[in-house]
Amino acid sequence: MSTIPTIELNDGTTIPQLGFGVFQIPPPETARAVDLALQAGYRHIDTAEMYGNEKGVGEAIRASGLDRDDVYITSKLNNGFHRPDDARRAFAETLEALGFEQVDLFLIHWPLPTLYDGDFVSTWRTLEEFRADGRARSIGVSNFQVAHLERLAAETATVPVVNQVELHPYFHNADVRAHGESHGIATEAWAPIGQGKVLDDEVIEAVAEETGRTPAQVTLRWHIQRGSIVFPKSVTPERIEENFRIFDFELSDEQMGRIDALDRGEAGRNGPNPDVFDYVPR
Ligand code: NAD
Repeated sequence: MSTIPTIELNDGTTIPQLGFGVFQIPPPETARAVDLALQAGYRHIDTAEMYGNEKGVGEAIRASGLDRDDVYITSKLNNGFHRPDDARRAFAETLEALGFEQVDLFLIHWPLPTLYDGDFVSTWRTLEEFRADGRARSIGVSNFQVAHLERLAAETATVPVVNQVELHPYFHNADVRAHGESHGIATEAWAPIGQGKVLDDEVIEAVAEETGRTPAQVTLRWHIQRGSIVFPKSVTPERIEENFRIFDFELSDEQMGRIDALDRGEAGRNGPNPDVFDYVPR
């Protein structure tokens, strides 16, 4: 089994660079999918309160017989619970649903700058409490733009360990990633294969042909070589294994450059723009 590289975070902890994402996996199917991922060798699972499937994640980890310490677990705050008291209650529910006393990483899922009077700072201070009491080993953010990160830096004492943002060959999210790089915030790339959309790209197909790999493996390898953390999602056993086999080949600088050139800037974004996204589950 290949060894998964780790990335050192700004609080001294480490995170496996490859994980398994469970967005849109229906709750009843989650334990089975996570079980397949753990069997394939993944040791990092990315879930969220809003995915509704934290319980299945915890069940599969317990059933695997692996030590809790051997699996890195991330969850994220529900958009409806940014106010400090709500966040405290929601975080306790996350731990209860997972069935563990601690998560490795807890994130503010979206900044929601048009809600809560634009106040994500008190939400961040609430996450600082979870880190201080040890229930979250690390804390970070997701979908934060540069201005949001600058505001946290100006008003609080803790730099997020990661910023989890949309990032794939069609959307490099370049300024957010560059800001993270210069401020010690690791970049996690969500939708690393563009939710499947980049897989029939001519350039990616050509590089796949040249390396004898699949388009998904080439795309994930591109992220790994750029230093991003990825957690592709699949419920198909063959794809779960395929996405894991990315540490026994390398892309040349020339191949990396051809994939780099696919960036479409803002036009390549698939998901919502965090400056205006205001979804709250009802
Ligand atoms: P992804 O880029 O991982 O693509 C997933 C889709 O690609 C799946 O539907 C699957 O059918 C297909 N696929 C997977 N492997 C394949 C393969 N080898 N060949 C062909 N098709 C394949 O997209 P995602 O699930 O949106 O993102 C990954 C993870 O990122 C999520 O599961 C979640 O954990 C996280 N995420 C976070 C946010 C956020 O706001 N923080 C948003 C979206 C996703």
